[in-house]
Amino acid sequence: MDKKTNLYSKLPKVDEIISQIEKDTNLLSNMPRDIMVESIREEIDVLRKQISLNNIKPEELDKTINKIVSIITIKTANKLKYKLKKVINATGVIIHTNLGRSVISKKVIDNITDVITNYSNLEFDLESGKRGSRYSHLVDIITRVTGAESAIVVNNNAAAVLLVLSSIAKDKEVVVSRGELVEIGGSFRIPDVMEQSRAKLVDVGTTNKTHLWDYENAIGEDTKAFLKVHTSNYRILGFTSSVKLDEMVELGKKYNIPVIEDLGSGVLLDLSKYGLQYEPTVQESLKAGADIVTFSGDKLLGGPQAGIIVGKKKYIDVMRKNPLNRAFRVDKFTIAALEATLKLFLSESEAIENIPTLRMITMSLAELEKRADKLFDMINKKLLDKYNIQIVDEFSQVGGGSMPLEEIPTKAIMISAKSGSITKLEKYLRLYDIPIITRLYKESLYIDVRTILEDDYDIVVKGFDYALANIEYSERSENYHE
Ligand SMILES: *Cc1c(COP(=O)(O)O)cnc(C)c1O
Repeated sequence: MDKKTNLYSKLPKVDEIISQIEKDTNLLSNMPRDIMVESIREEIDVLRKQISLNNIKPEELDKTINKIVSIITIKTANKLKYKLKKVINATGVIIHTNLGRSVISKKVIDNITDVITNYSNLEFDLESGKRGSRYSHLVDIITRVTGAESAIVVNNNAAAVLLVLSSIAKDKEVVVSRGELVEIGGSFRIPDVMEQSRAKLVDVGTTNKTHLWDYENAIGEDTKAFLKVHTSNYRILGFTSSVKLDEMVELGKKYNIPVIEDLGSGVLLDLSKYGLQYEPTVQESLKAGADIVTFSGDKLLGGPQAGIIVGKKKYIDVMRKNPLNRAFRVDKFTIAALEATLKLFLSESEAIENIPTLRMITMSLAELEKRADKLFDMINKKLLDKYNIQIVDEFSQVGGGSMPLEEIPTKAIMISAKSGSITKLEKYLRLYDIPIITRLYKESLYIDVRTILEDDYDIVVKGFDYALANIEYSERSENYHE
C-alpha cells in the first residue's frame, strides 16, 4: 500500500465524526442532522483533496481530524444563520433601498406583534359580526392624516400607479409630460407601467418644457386622465417649465378629466421647517385638487413597504373592484405597521421623534457632533497605531429617490490607512456578524453617524475589533506565504 492510500483509509467515517462531536460538545442536539452531515462530508472532501496534493503528513492526520471537528460545528452553525439580517448603516444615506429603506419605529412593533401572533379582525366587521374588508382599518387614519375622501393600500407605489391607471384608463388615453417619464430604481418606468396597465400613453411637451396648452391640445375623446409624476430622483435645471398641479386641475375640471399625481416619496410634513428643501406634501396635492394621489409607505413616510392611494371616493371604489387589487393586496403585517406609523402623524412632534427616518433627517448638527465625538472616543485608541482618524464635515443624503439634490450637512468619522490600503477595513467591517456598511471615497473610509442608531455604537466598536483582528491575521498569513 502506498502512503497516500494508507492515509485515505485512515479518514474518519461520517458517523465517527458525529459521535466525536457529541462527545466534545452538546451542540449536536440543536443542530439538524442533515446539515451537520453535509458539513462533515464537505470537510472530509477537503481532507481527501489535501492528501491528494500531499499537503498532509501521516503524523499530522490525527491532529488535522481533531481540528476539523470544530470547523464542522462552526460551519453548521453558519449554515443555520439567517440570510436576511440586521446591518449597521454608516453610509449616511437615510432611505437606503439596498439596506431596507425605512427603519420601522420600535413603537410600531408592539402593534405588529399583537396583531400577527393572535387572531385579528383582518376581514371581520366587529359591529355587524359579518365579513369585513381588510382595507377598512386604514381608511380612517389615512383620511384623517391626509384630508383625503377615501384611500386604498397596495404592496408598493409601483403597484399603486398600475392599479390606478388600469382602473381609470384601461384601453384609453392618459396625458403625461415628456419631462416626467421617469425611471426609478431601474425597474419602475412610467412608460412600462403604463403599458402593463393597458392605458395609452400620450406624452406631450418636451424634456425641458411643457405648457398647459400641450395638455389641452392632447385632449381627445379617449382622454381619461392627466398624470403628473414627481421627478423624485432627478431635476431638470436651466431653461425649463412645467405645469403646476393647480393649473392641471383647473384644465381637468373644464373638460371633466381627473388629475392623478404620483408623488413617490409621500411627505406628510413640511420638512422645509427643518432646513430641508421644500417637497410638496400629500395634503397640499389634495388641497390643490388632485383627484388621486399615490405614494410609498417606506420612503419619507418612514413606515412599511406599501403603496398608498388617496383621493376621490368614486375612483377609489372602482379600484377596490379591480381584480389587480386582489393580486396587490397587503398582508396583516403591513396593515398593522402602517396603521401604527400613521397614528404617530397625528402629532408632528411624535412623528419626528419616533419615526427613525424623520428623526434622522431632522437631526441637528449639534446632536450629530455629540454623537460623532462619542463614537470617535470609542474607536480612536484601537485605530491610531495604523490609521489616521478624524471627525470631518460631510453630507448625508435622503436617498430612496427622494430629494436628489438635497445634501444635508453632517459629521462623519474619516479613516485612512497610514500605509497601504483602506479597502480591507471596509471589507471586514462589512463581513462582521452584524455587518457595518461604510462608504469608501478616495482611499478614505467614512462613517456618517446620522444613520447609526445610538444603541448600536457598541456593535460598531466590536465590528472594529473583528475587522482589525482579521486584517492582522490576513497580513500575517500573507507574510508567512511569501
Ligand atoms: C419611488 C417611486 C415609485 C415607486 O415606489 P415603490 O414604493 O418603490 O414601488 C413610483 N413613483 C415615484 C415618483 C417614486 O418616487
